[in-house]
Amino acid sequence: MLGSGLSNEYLTQIFDQYKDLKYGEVASYIPELKKAKPSHFAISVVDCQGQILSVGESELEVTLQSVSKPFSYGFVLEELGIEEVHHKVGVEPTGEAFNSIIELEESSHRPFNPMINSGAIAISSMIPGASDAQKLQSLTEFFGTLVDRTVHVDNTVFLSEKKTGDRNRAIAYLMKNFGILSGDVESILDLYFQQCSILMNTEDMAFMAATLANGGVQPKTGKNIFKAEHVKCCLSLMLTCGMYDSAGRWAFEVGLPAKSGVSGAIIAVVPGVCGIAVTSPLLDEHGHSCRGLEVIKKIAGDHNFNIFNPRG
Ligand code: GLU
Repeated sequence: MLGSGLSNEYLTQIFDQYKDLKYGEVASYIPELKKAKPSHFAISVVDCQGQILSVGESELEVTLQSVSKPFSYGFVLEELGIEEVHHKVGVEPTGEAFNSIIELEESSHRPFNPMINSGAIAISSMIPGASDAQKLQSLTEFFGTLVDRTVHVDNTVFLSEKKTGDRNRAIAYLMKNFGILSGDVESILDLYFQQCSILMNTEDMAFMAATLANGGVQPKTGKNIFKAEHVKCCLSLMLTCGMYDSAGRWAFEVGLPAKSGVSGAIIAVVPGVCGIAVTSPLLDEHGHSCRGLEVIKKIAGDHNFNIFNPRG
């Protein structure tokens, strides 16, 4: 593959090396996610020229969960601008789990950043549209432009999370109390749960990551989806906050902006080079895909992708 130095043989070798790694647990706090197949495993890489490398079940769709967060954040940045968005959401890491209840800044009561649940729920409240249906449509259309096709919400996962999402509900009502959220909290939560339930396959997710790697331009369609300054916002927050309470270790060991989701998806961005996506539902105690972490760490190490490495 031109841009990244990766080859099909290399990716197949990595796949074979990690396919027998079987530790971790499938997420169960959203009951529907328990149905994931523990053996599911796929790796896709898309470079900035739009070339694709994939191994494993890369066509199998899973819900995005928190992998959606940097993109919905980028979407509202495009719609409202940095100042308006960050009036309501901060840019600091928490060192806490994704669903921590103690996650509002002490004086401003803003959520710390858009990568944790509170921040992402606040971002959902900024999605444009005159009605709930229009908001959902603008959100799915936006995600569709990222992958150049029509995308759908997995309604069963959405309803499963809506039914059991009291922790997110509590966080959202707390934000309403502090004036961070305005409007109907249940509608905002529905949109957040629907965003997390958008179905994508591994290749789609690599395209999404590659769009950020490519300065906001979708490598296949050439569409300019994010302004360069907004790409910078997304990537810096993915690096410092994308991996929740293990973001420090991730930056220290891997040095790539990344985002994981509890469906077992994880993406990493190699700026100017490529996007990497791994899907595999067995999760560690932080909610990250166990195979995903190892695979991205290995690929990044083998190819000198750490953004803090001197290039040359
Ligand atoms: N929808 C999930 C939640 O809000 C996303 C969490 C994640 O993927 O990290 O709990």
